[in-house]
Amino acid sequence: MNKYLYQGHMVRQRFGQHFLYNNNIIAAIVTAIAPKTGQVIVEIGPGLGALTIPIVKLVSNMTVIEIDRNLVTRLANNYFLNSRLNIVQQDVMTIDFDKLSAKLGQPLRLFGNLPYNISTQLIFKLLNYPYAIYDMHFMLQKEVVNRLIAVPNSKSYGRLSVIAQYFCKIIPVLEVPSTSFKPEPKVNSMVVKLIPYTKKLPFPVNNFTNLTTLTKLAFNKRRKTLRNSLSKFFTPQQLEKQGINSKLRAENLSVEYYSKLANLL
Ligand code: SAM
Repeated sequence: MNKYLYQGHMVRQRFGQHFLYNNNIIAAIVTAIAPKTGQVIVEIGPGLGALTIPIVKLVSNMTVIEIDRNLVTRLANNYFLNSRLNIVQQDVMTIDFDKLSAKLGQPLRLFGNLPYNISTQLIFKLLNYPYAIYDMHFMLQKEVVNRLIAVPNSKSYGRLSVIAQYFCKIIPVLEVPSTSFKPEPKVNSMVVKLIPYTKKLPFPVNNFTNLTTLTKLAFNKRRKTLRNSLSKFFTPQQLEKQGINSKLRAENLSVEYYSKLANLL
């Protein structure tokens, strides 16, 4: 992409900047989030405030996390926003969300039109904080949302699906065409809602590291049968004893069965 100026801001590609400018889409996202006074609202990547402004009008103050110095300066100098925003100038990947939630006094309602270059990594990170987060609304590449909501036996089903569905209820919210952004991304987008299970996980494991290890092993060799990919931990007989056909592949196994196996390690 050549140099691209939007609302007087030199767009930085390395920060995945695609600014929302379709007002109907913005309104639909705000309606989906439905922020209420008293809730702790946190936006990742506020940019030029396309979502921040309509949201903060509903709650009077909120926290934003933005890496780009120039954008932070603009937000801080915005007469309407400066008294209403708690601006954290930091890489979101380095934020401790347990500490942030403790500081702000309750589980966070997180949202953001996420930079696509870090979105998958960021979701894996956020899943480590189920008690610090009340819910999340994220704009993501449609392909990433498809992976989040994928069910077994489908091409999109992978480690992200298993880990995200282990921790959260996931609800697709709205498709967003690339023409809704400046500059336009090459891919279509989608808003998704994730709600961490805080009371009871549907398929709890004794040790989450075991679930991570197992899913990495299985999906790193997703074309291999489970008897091959999981041979380090299970014999075909042990798999069959759990009701798992050892000739199946990683993509055929449900979250329930991954959890079952993780509890045997
Ligand atoms: N929310 C704005 C909108 O919808 O128009 C901007 C969305 S833009 C896709 C992503 C935003 O995230 C940009 O403001 C970018 O600077 C910011 N960003 C990118 N990487 C970040 C990081 N590692 N930590 C915090 N913010 C980041």
